[in-house]
Amino acid sequence: MIFEGLADKLQGALGKLKSKGKLTEKDVKDAMREVKLALLEADVNFKVVKDFVKKVQERCVGQEVMESLTPAQHVIKIVNEELTSLMGDVQSKVMISSKPPTVIMMVGLQGAGKTTTSGKLGGYFKKQGKRPLLVACDVYRPAAIKQLQVVGEKLDIPVFNMGDKESPVNIAKAGLSHAIKNNNDLVIIDTAGRLHVDEVLMDELKSIKSEVKPHEILLVVDSMTGQDAVNVAESFNEALGVDGVVLTKLDGDTRGGAALSIRAVTQKPIKFIGMGEKLDDLEPFYPDRMASRILG
Ligand code: GDP
Repeated sequence: MIFEGLADKLQGALGKLKSKGKLTEKDVKDAMREVKLALLEADVNFKVVKDFVKKVQERCVGQEVMESLTPAQHVIKIVNEELTSLMGDVQSKVMISSKPPTVIMMVGLQGAGKTTTSGKLGGYFKKQGKRPLLVACDVYRPAAIKQLQVVGEKLDIPVFNMGDKESPVNIAKAGLSHAIKNNNDLVIIDTAGRLHVDEVLMDELKSIKSEVKPHEILLVVDSMTGQDAVNVAESFNEALGVDGVVLTKLDGDTRGGAALSIRAVTQKPIKFIGMGEKLDDLEPFYPDRMASRILG
């Protein structure tokens, strides 16, 4: 479960305050030191932790909290609010164009879960009454096209492909025309990934972006890679510009450092989370619900 250790430690540190009644500044400082350690152990970005703790501490030693009858409750409320704000405050939705088809371009490193998530996203929107088309632009990874076809078959969603001999830019353009002809109101483009962020990959993604002008570029990152995921998000955002992040494999991530850092570091919201290998294991991301998971 995500935030396993963090939840225990934060609840422990804040629980101690509850038993104290009135709080002194030192009580708050001691608790914040524990909060800081817990966040660092959860692999949250160092600067994010520093800023977070500073903000919470400033709010907590204010008159309103210190003089209240239930100061510990106030502190917990403030931590909850700041955790929620760290993750973007409110749910960020995918932009659906008023002029269909809406085009979503999926990007990310190999193995992050791009192909699986393309399918999951198609399934998610199909349930909402959309008519998605999946477009197979990963011509480098052996079996990526087949994988997308299998996913499409399971979900009963059409998959457009031109094999692996055509250029990804041409496939993306042809996929878009195909969607318009066939009345698909949502196009999800599965692009190629690589093991590392590199210029060739970015150049290809930039060409697809400039040719098909997607409404959304969604970056898929693996939450289990912690701060690496945050670095990858920063690189993609700087080179390409992304509109949102899908954080996958949260079902296997016990720490949660990426979930807590990505928004603060990149200013881009997490829009969906992957919670398993099955095609319906995709959920919209709600910052307030995540914060509540941490604080119980
Ligand atoms: P791609 O190379 O980025 O297209 O990655 P794939 O879509 O092929 O996914 C790589 C592996 O991660 C596959 O075994 C997926 O089943 C798995 N995977 C993707 N998303 C999730 C998730 O949210 N949770 C879990 N546990 N596994 C996932």
